[in-house]
Formats: sequence, C-alpha cells, structure tokens
Amino acid sequence: MKYFDTHAHLNFPDYNKDRDEVIKKSLEKGFFIINIGTDLKESKKVVEIAKNYRKGIYASVGLHPLYIEREEDFALDSYRKLAKEEKVVAIGETGLDYKYISEKRKEEFEEEKNLQKEVFRKHIKIAREFDLPVVLHCRKAHKDLIEELFNLIKEEKQNIKGVVHCFTGSISQAKEYIDLGFYLGINGVVFKMNLEKVIKEIPLVKMVIETDCPFLSPPQVKCKRNEPLFLEYIAKEITRIKKIDAKEVIETTNKNAQNLFL
Ligand SMILES: [Zn+2]
Repeated sequence: MKYFDTHAHLNFPDYNKDRDEVIKKSLEKGFFIINIGTDLKESKKVVEIAKNYRKGIYASVGLHPLYIEREEDFALDSYRKLAKEEKVVAIGETGLDYKYISEKRKEEFEEEKNLQKEVFRKHIKIAREFDLPVVLHCRKAHKDLIEELFNLIKEEKQNIKGVVHCFTGSISQAKEYIDLGFYLGINGVVFKMNLEKVIKEIPLVKMVIETDCPFLSPPQVKCKRNEPLFLEYIAKEITRIKKIDAKEVIETTNKNAQNLFL
C-alpha cells in the first residue's frame, strides 16, 4: 500500500543533517511526497530537492500568507519560472491566515487582509496559467477564503482546483469547499483538535492526507520532529473515526492525490 504525503517541508533546516536518509527511507516504501515552498528561497529549495530524486518527490511553489513581508513585492515572474519546472505539481502554499493579524487595530487588519488576498489572487493566476492545482493554507479566515473562491469559480467561471491543507474548519465550511471542487487535507492536527465529526462527514473521496512535517508529530511517536513515515498514524485515526478498512483509507487518499497532483 502506498502513502501519499501531500504536504511536507523536508526542505526545512530540521532535516539538514539527515535529509537524504529521511527521503530515501520513505521512497523505499513507495511513498509519494510533495514538499511545499513557503517563500521564494524555500520554493527554489523544494524544486532542487525534487530534482535530486528520480521519482516520488515533487514540489509546490508559493509564498505563505504569514511570510508575505519577507518579500518586498510578490515576485510573480520568479514563481512563474519555478512553476515551469517538471517536478512542480502545485502552486502554494497560499491562502489567508488571520491568526496573528486579527489582534491588530482595524485599519491595519483590513490592510493586511487585503494584501493577503492580493497575493493569493496572484498565486491563482500562476496556477491557471500552468494548469496546476493550488495548495491552500487557511486559519481563522475560512469565510473570506470561501468567498474569494466562490467569486473566482462560480462568478468568474475560472477553472481552479486544489486542496485546503490542514483543514480545521466546520462541517458546513468543509461542504462549501467540496462544492467548489476542493479536497481537504487531514494531518496530525486531528490529535490536537476535535475533528471527529468533520472527518466522519467528509467523504473519503474528497480527502487527502499529509504530515505537514516537521510540524505536528503524532503523539504515538516519541520523536518531536515529524516525517512522512508517520503518515500511517493519520490513516489509522481516519480508519478509527470512519470505521472503515485501513487499506481503503490509504488507497483512496493516494488515488485522490494522484488525481489532483500527478
Ligand atoms: Zn505547510
């Protein structure tokens, strides 16, 4: 059975000492992994890593909404250049994250929200140019993100596909994303928040799994640093909640990810 880790950051310094070892261990087991860029420097790095391996490792390029200020202006052409690379299978992570800015005073909050939306729309533009799916990150902003997507997809009839990674929204929000054609990414956050009802309700054919490593290491392992091999605990948790066969969870989520990204 093959696992597909749809959201990893093996490019992060946490793996500087044993990156190749971690990757090879997973590839030997037949894993598929997408490393996700969070700014231009990291996006270049995920592409380089993917190029070092014949198959199994892919890349997504983009600027995380929390890191917008790292770049003076969104370097559309630099990201475009990366998007052309063969191993690049998605654009992102992009999206909206109001977790930290919501405490700012109103005008500043509005200004930052608008900036995030503007950068998000630029990602959508590249994704459409290269016919790639988008990897979406969203915290405390589902209402706005759904509205953005609704306008682009339903009003402007744009063809956009992708995944809402690390989904932590409500059942009704899950349904809205699914109606818009999106997959939902489930990861180790299931061990931190109560997502049982949501996982029960989301059809397996709309689910992909991810580690978001090095973050969100499952409590079953003693290692603080997460890695793709620990994806089995996410599959097990979905198996427990949905009361279905583990094999079905692994195979269906793999097939979903293949359909979306490869
Ligand atoms: Zn991430």
